[in-house]
Amino acid sequence: HRRWVLASRPHGEPVKDNFRLEEGDIPTPGSGQLLLRTVYLSLDPYMRGRMSDAPSYSPPVEIGATMVGGTVSRVEQSNLDGFKPGDWVLSYGGWQNYEISDGQGLVKLGDNPEHPSWALGILGMPGFTAYMGLLDIGQPKAGETLVVAAATGPVGATVGQIGKIKGCRVVGIAGGSEKCRYAVDTLGFDECLDHRADDFAEQLAQACPQGIDVYYENVGGKVFDAVLPLLNTAARVPVCGLVSGYNATDLPAGPDRLPLLMGTILKKRIRMQGFIIGQDYGHRIGEFQQAMGQWISEGLIKYREQITDGLEQAPEAFFGLLKGKNFGKVVIRVGSD
Ligand code: NDP
Repeated sequence: HRRWVLASRPHGEPVKDNFRLEEGDIPTPGSGQLLLRTVYLSLDPYMRGRMSDAPSYSPPVEIGATMVGGTVSRVEQSNLDGFKPGDWVLSYGGWQNYEISDGQGLVKLGDNPEHPSWALGILGMPGFTAYMGLLDIGQPKAGETLVVAAATGPVGATVGQIGKIKGCRVVGIAGGSEKCRYAVDTLGFDECLDHRADDFAEQLAQACPQGIDVYYENVGGKVFDAVLPLLNTAARVPVCGLVSGYNATDLPAGPDRLPLLMGTILKKRIRMQGFIIGQDYGHRIGEFQQAMGQWISEGLIKYREQITDGLEQAPEAFFGLLKGKNFGKVVIRVGSD
C-alpha cells in the first residue's frame, strides 16, 4: 500500500517536501467493507486549497493524512452486498493505490466502461462544472460573445464547446500557441489568444468587437483585468475558479481595482456569481449526464486527457497543473486496468 500524505502546508507554490510517500501493508476490509484498487487518480486545481488551512468551503487535509482526490477504482475484495470483485467504481479514494470503503458515495461505472477515466473529467466533476456554471449562471444566448480561459483544460474546453452548441461566438484564452491552435482547430472555438502575449489586452479587445456577454471565470488575475472593460451591459460572470492566484501569498500589485470592479458591476448591471459544483448543483447531475452523453455520442464534444503513469509522479503532475504545464485533464494511472 502506497499513499501520498500531506507532510506540511505550502507557502506559495507547493513543493515536493509538502508531500511524503508512505508505504505499508495492503489493508484488509472488515465486514460491510470493500477493498478498492485505484486505477486512475484525478488531479485538480482545488487540491491546492485543501493543502492550506485558510477558511474555505471544505475542511483542509490534516497534516499526515492522505491527500484527497477523485479516483476510478476496481473492487478487489468485497464484504458488501451489491459489489463484486472486478466492479468499476468512481470513488474519492485520494492519492493512494488501495482504499477501504464502506460503499458510501461510490458510483458504479458499469461492467465494461469504454473510457473509465472519463468519469473524472468530461463525464464527471469538471464536465458538470462547465455545464452548470455556463448554462445556469452564464445563460448564453445565440449570437452572444463568450470568453473562457484555461481553454484547453477540462472545464474551459467544455465551456467553450457548449457555448458553440448554444450558438455563441467563443473566444478562448490559453497559455501558448499549441494550446490556442488546438482550441480553434479541434474544439471549434472562433478564436483563442495567448494570455502571455505582451499585447494580450489589445488582442482580446480586437477579438471581441461586440464586447463580452458571458465571461466564464477560471483564472482571475491579468486575464480578468483585460476582460473587465469589455463586459457588456447585463453581462453574466460565473465565477468558477481563480487559479492564477492559488499560490499567491500577497495581494496583487496596485492600484486597487475594487472600486473599478464595483462601479462596473453597478453601471453595467453585471451579474457575477460564484458556485461550488457539488454543493450548489449536486441534485442536477442526472440532467448533465444525459445532455453530455448525448453530445458526446453526436460527436459535438471533444475531450483530451494528459495521463501520467505512476502514483509517485502525482506531486510533479500537480505542480505542473497549477502552472499550465498540463495539456488536457490531468490523470495519474496508478494501476493497470
Ligand atoms: P485546468 O486543467 O484548466 O488547469 C488549470 C489551467 O489554468 C492551467 O492549465 C493553465 O492553463 C491555467 N492557468 C494557470 N495559471 C494561470 C495564470 N496565471 N493565468 C492564466 N491561466 C492560468 O483545470 P480545470 O479545468 O480542472 O479547472 C479550471 C478552473 O475551474 C480552476 O480555476 C478550478 O479551480 C475551477 N473549478 C471550479 C469548480 C467549482 O465548483 N467552482 C469545480 C472544478 C474546477 P493555460 O496554460 O492555458 O494558461
